Amino acid sequence: AYDMLIVGGGPAGAAAAIYAARKGIRTGIVAEKFGGQVTDTMAIENFISVKATDGPKLVSGLEQHVKDYDVDIMANNKAVKLTKEGLINIELENGALLSSKSVMLATGARWREMNVPGEQQYRGAGVAYCPHCDGPLFKGKRVAVIGGGNSGIEAALDLANIVEHVTVLEFDTKLRADEVLQRKAKAANNIDIILNAMTTEVVGDGKRVTGLTYQDRASQEIKQVELAGIFVQIGLVPNTEWLKGDIALTARGEIEVGQRGETSIEGVFAAGDVTTSPYKQIIIAMGDGANAALGAFDYLLRAPSE
Ligand code: FAD
Repeated sequence: AYDMLIVGGGPAGAAAAIYAARKGIRTGIVAEKFGGQVTDTMAIENFISVKATDGPKLVSGLEQHVKDYDVDIMANNKAVKLTKEGLINIELENGALLSSKSVMLATGARWREMNVPGEQQYRGAGVAYCPHCDGPLFKGKRVAVIGGGNSGIEAALDLANIVEHVTVLEFDTKLRADEVLQRKAKAANNIDIILNAMTTEVVGDGKRVTGLTYQDRASQEIKQVELAGIFVQIGLVPNTEWLKGDIALTARGEIEVGQRGETSIEGVFAAGDVTTSPYKQIIIAMGDGANAALGAFDYLLRAPSE
């Protein structure tokens, strides 16, 4: 059995693995795709002390750093069930069963996509999901924010300080964001809000986004907006479908954690975007992973030995 088995090979899982291995305990890491969301990222400019990097480079750095330690890496493996009978068991999709004294859940999250033509083609070439990450790349340009919930209006207010103009497109007939955010957005002179609008296509010149089309749901008319960037803010979905019913999750599916990353199951810890940690960023996920690994190590020190 492992002392610490980590599920997830993104920044949180990698940080947890290194912290665990440095304690000299038996550490394993199971990951469907090593690198996680970072694999899909082009420019990374907010990983402090590294002025600029990109996803593939950072993933290769993560992998090399983890491989420097005695960690069993089980990449391309998906966890499908967690159970506890003395030890904590993780069942993999291929039927294998792994046992560990402690488990770290770091399965991350995924942005909900619009599923319209052009979105995949221009992902990272104008289609963006993270305003904290990619906002500055659109300095002085025109952008759209898709979604009028809290994250959409927060993104619009944030972007309005950087870009020339923001158009918010909301599918519903009203915004769902908090009143105070709506008021600020309506007061800003470079934010336009279009309600009852269904985005139908991301338009580009083959290299980058040049605009989008949407359908006015009242008149059925198709309209076009010219812009350089589209921030999709229609939800972040935590990868916890496989844990439902077994561990305490919030209504949005995030794993509830305490200050040391502890969850509702003794010996099971969690870190990164999959948790209630409010801001979803690489540097925060890494910090969370280190924090929860130390929490799990503390737990192991106190756990009765078999
Ligand atoms: P993830 O990176 O999501 O990793 C989750 C891991 O768990 C993966 O290895 C995945 O394969 C694995 N996994 C999931 N389910 C299972 C399962 N059932 N069994 C086994 N393994 C599983 N942040 C920044 O700070 N700066 C940026 O510039 C930036 N740009 C971004 C651009 C894009 C396009 C995206 C999508 C995100 C960006 N982010 C950026 C956010 C950042 O990538 C995340 O906050 C960070 O990756 C979270 O790390 P994590 O380890 O918690 O989860």
